[in-house]
Amino acid sequence: MNSQHTLDPSDWEAFRAQGHRMLDDILDHLEHIRERPVWQPIPDEVRAAFREPLPRAPAALADVHETFLRRILPFAVGNTHPGFLGWVHGGGTPVGMLAEMLAGGLNANLGGRDQIPIEVERQVAEWARELFGFPPGAGGLFVTGTSMANLLGVLVARTAVLGPESRQKGMAASAGSLTAYASAAAHGSIARALDLAGLGSDALRLVPTDSQHCIDTAALERAIAADRAAGRTPFLLIGTAGTVDVGAIDDLTRLAEIADREAVRLHVDGAYGALAMLAPELAPRLRGIERAQSIAFDFHKWGQVPYDAGFFLVRDRALQLAAFDSPAAYLRREARGMAAGSPWPCDLGPDLSRGFRALKTWFTLKVYGTEALGRAIYGTCRLAQYLRHRVEETPELELLAPVSLNIVCFRHRGERPDALNADIVAALHESGIAAPSTTTLNGRLAIRAAIVNHRTERRDLDALIDATLKFGARCARAPGAS
Ligand SMILES: *Cc1c(COP(=O)(O)O)cnc(C)c1O
Repeated sequence: MNSQHTLDPSDWEAFRAQGHRMLDDILDHLEHIRERPVWQPIPDEVRAAFREPLPRAPAALADVHETFLRRILPFAVGNTHPGFLGWVHGGGTPVGMLAEMLAGGLNANLGGRDQIPIEVERQVAEWARELFGFPPGAGGLFVTGTSMANLLGVLVARTAVLGPESRQKGMAASAGSLTAYASAAAHGSIARALDLAGLGSDALRLVPTDSQHCIDTAALERAIAADRAAGRTPFLLIGTAGTVDVGAIDDLTRLAEIADREAVRLHVDGAYGALAMLAPELAPRLRGIERAQSIAFDFHKWGQVPYDAGFFLVRDRALQLAAFDSPAAYLRREARGMAAGSPWPCDLGPDLSRGFRALKTWFTLKVYGTEALGRAIYGTCRLAQYLRHRVEETPELELLAPVSLNIVCFRHRGERPDALNADIVAALHESGIAAPSTTTLNGRLAIRAAIVNHRTERRDLDALIDATLKFGARCARAPGAS
């Protein structure tokens, strides 16, 4: 007895059967992911299928799912595949996928109100606080990713230094003099955060790195002194735990000491590297992170939670509230009833409507436990050492950066190496065998393999080396024609 306008199925039995088929199809896909190419070029007709007019009439769920299976599923970037080694992409898990499905069914809006989904998010924030050794009174919030969490870090620091009235008055009066510092290897989202915060990306000083690709702290101290001498106001140091190009970890203890002495704030971009805290073998290398004022990191990278699940952790939640709360009549809080439970997540960041990212993260942490997640993380670092070893024992290849965590940068030594190695990477992608990305180190193009996926094994790295040699020989004979 459905009303005319409902979007619920008229036949729940049939819908349920179709739903079970869809679940089986995607589980089959994950179970047999290794048998597929990592990535494949997108045929023109597949791309063209996504240029159709607005669908005004209905279609059968089964038919639309069929289109998904044929035209969407095979043409994603393949970061669930063990051969995916590009950029820094998490592999996801079947548990996270199921939790995402449950969250979709619940359709919770985590902007506010008194509801257990927000308690789940607070629970994850509390776990993050415990993991990073932050004091009681810390605040945490799910965001899309570390790009957004870095922006929150800059905004909280800005409000902490200029005072909450700067939120009304704007930056005009003071912004020109505030300066922030990060290493030249810092992620691009940090300069963007300063831009978006109205401080301008010119306010970011990119400090040179040392031979290990970590921030040169002596150069940092000189840069701060020079800005002070010029009448500017240093306000924020940004350390990186796991640089995006080679996986270097800045000396966070030293940064915390400098931040204390200079009375500036310390924010850590730990997008993928911060969760190394879960691996006992790696955690000591993050020493000093517990002294930061805020940390940005992603559960969707090394934490293997499906996209997206970025997180912002701040030492003093009062400052986070000062930076973001904005009373509105329609968001009035009460002591009882559904409008209780203030402050709400919408007081802690820029979003009002927010999805239930916490649920897939909570399921992942509960079902696997942090020890297994930490073993998966450490496992990717051990694989990186294996790959380093394979590169070093192969005369045609050379290593281009120290292997600090899970990222290996290397290249084929052939003629015109920048063009050759770019060709090799494109050929690797098109072969579907392995998918590293590239970066430029000291002006040299590197093949960059970032092992993030818990499914990756030695045989995947052997396949990468074999195919690199094969395509290296082929591309050298026919440059650009691979
Ligand atoms: C991935 C990454 C980011 C950006 O994180 P998103 O989740 O993609 O927004 C920032 N910093 C570093 C070091 C990263 O590796």
